[in-house]
Amino acid sequence: MEQQFLRAQRMESIGTLAGGIAHDLNNVLAPIMMSIELLKMDERDRTRLNILTTIEASAQRGADMVKQVLSFARGLETQQMNIETSQLLREIEKISQETFNKSIEIRSDIAADLWHVEGDPTQLHQVLINLCVNARDAMAHGGRLTITAKNVNLDAAYEAANMEAQKGPYVRIQVEDTGIGMKPEIQERIFEPFFTTKELGKGTGLGLSTTLAIIKSHGGFIRVHSEPGHGTRFRVYLPAAPNEAAVSVPMPEAELPRGH
Ligand code: ADP
Repeated sequence: MEQQFLRAQRMESIGTLAGGIAHDLNNVLAPIMMSIELLKMDERDRTRLNILTTIEASAQRGADMVKQVLSFARGLETQQMNIETSQLLREIEKISQETFNKSIEIRSDIAADLWHVEGDPTQLHQVLINLCVNARDAMAHGGRLTITAKNVNLDAAYEAANMEAQKGPYVRIQVEDTGIGMKPEIQERIFEPFFTTKELGKGTGLGLSTTLAIIKSHGGFIRVHSEPGHGTRFRVYLPAAPNEAAVSVPMPEAELPRGH
């Protein structure tokens, strides 16, 4: 218990420290980006233009990482909205189709009658993008990303096996890849802030800790199943918005805690 407390305290100071650095870095990056933009406008030489574009892309990546660290350090400001989950998932699928390398095949199976959820659309968008980007990064040589979503009704047996889960109607979103997978010792640490196996400059290690915090703040939970060399499957459970779950759609069969 005490150890947990110390750990939380350490994480908090890391967050504050990183937040301070990120803030300063932001001030360093802003003039770099602006200057590149100005230089690009007047540049006619192809080679120089290409170099400027490379610098710009790196600076942009830096700015994106800074943004991620800042939002982690500041904590989450939450909106409460009724979200049409299937539409959110279609957006995520579209972004992935448009931006991921063509060596990654993207499939989806999203239930037509998917329940709505209650919460912050920007945050949930970030959760799903984080999962898809991690899936992409795990498939450097190509593979298949599958996004599935369905309505599930968790019963008392599930509740007993999953301390954090309350029984009731949930939307279950699954993001599955055929990538490198994770060894158990990696899997144990993936939700820790700043834990990353990606090379320097490619990851902040904040994606999944932010993802977990967002899901928890929405009353949901996340499960991971991974096999090294075969792939990884994340399942996000979000409580269905009560009004939506109560209307029209009949409850599907209770889901038991198998295969999590
Ligand atoms: P980052 O992506 O910046 O490394 P994350 O918190 O999102 O930070 O992920 C932490 C680590 O979890 C990754 O560096 C990687 O080792 C592992 N990981 C996450 N998702 C997957 C996945 N789909 N396949 C394999 N490894 C993964």
